Amino acid sequence: MRKMANPKIKVVGLKKAFGDLEVLKGIDLEISSGEVVCIIGPSGSGKSTFLRCLNRLEEPTAGEIFVDGESITSNGADVDRVRRHLGMVFQQFNLFPHYTVKQNLMFAPVELKLKTPVEAEKTAIRLLDRVGLGDKVDAKPRELSGGQQQRVAIARALAMEPDIMLFDEPTSALDPEMVSEVLDPEMVSEVLDVMRELAEEGMTMVIVTHEMGFAHDVADRVIFIDDGVIVEQGTPEQVMDHPQSVRTKSFLSKVL
Ligand code: ADP
Ligand code: MG
Repeated sequence: MRKMANPKIKVVGLKKAFGDLEVLKGIDLEISSGEVVCIIGPSGSGKSTFLRCLNRLEEPTAGEIFVDGESITSNGADVDRVRRHLGMVFQQFNLFPHYTVKQNLMFAPVELKLKTPVEAEKTAIRLLDRVGLGDKVDAKPRELSGGQQQRVAIARALAMEPDIMLFDEPTSALDPEMVSEVLDPEMVSEVLDVMRELAEEGMTMVIVTHEMGFAHDVADRVIFIDDGVIVEQGTPEQVMDHPQSVRTKSFLSKVL
């Protein structure tokens, strides 16, 4: 594993068990500022659990996680402050259905007294414009397509001004095979385009995805996780085009 002078995120010996089930079996990882890391791997291999440990939605069983050199897993760590650094976007958009799009973005910054309502509204409008939803600020989530709702969810995470963004299969709920309603085939690509722009602007990103073409395009590094361990990592060319491990080869042969 490469060593970095000042990693943005450093994970040391991370383990997570649910009762007898050991899901993460010792993850060591350093991510540098501005790096885009895509995590691939079979269902049930621990990818979501890993992301959730990174912003302390799960408590690790063992190991430590540092952000900007500061432990976020020690007893004294301020979990709210940790989460402000790390924005998270889930497969399900989890928008507040009774709020307008704009209010969804304003809620947390105002509630946590990080911004006045006037400042929060300005930021909300700017961010919605940036994700291509400048004309939807007063719409309710149910009036939007899945792709539009996911872009709202990304803008909502950005409204907290995070310096790291975590994405857990952000397009899988938009997959035509997953949903019954009539779908706009553009939905997946419009979400991926927003993510691509964020990556180009230098955001540090950790993305769990099954969009192999996207991962190949945007990732500085691809990590293949299987059965709670990092099996293989490297550039997209190394891991996806020239995998070394039998397990990586087998996984890729099923998804590509
Ligand atoms: P992935 O995202 O790679 O599909 P997950 O991290 O969601 O995998 O899950 C890894 C394993 O951990 C699965 O066997 C899953 O059932 C189990 N798991 C995840 N969350 C919990 C939980 N809260 N309680 C018990 N088991 C869990
Ligand atoms: Mg998952």
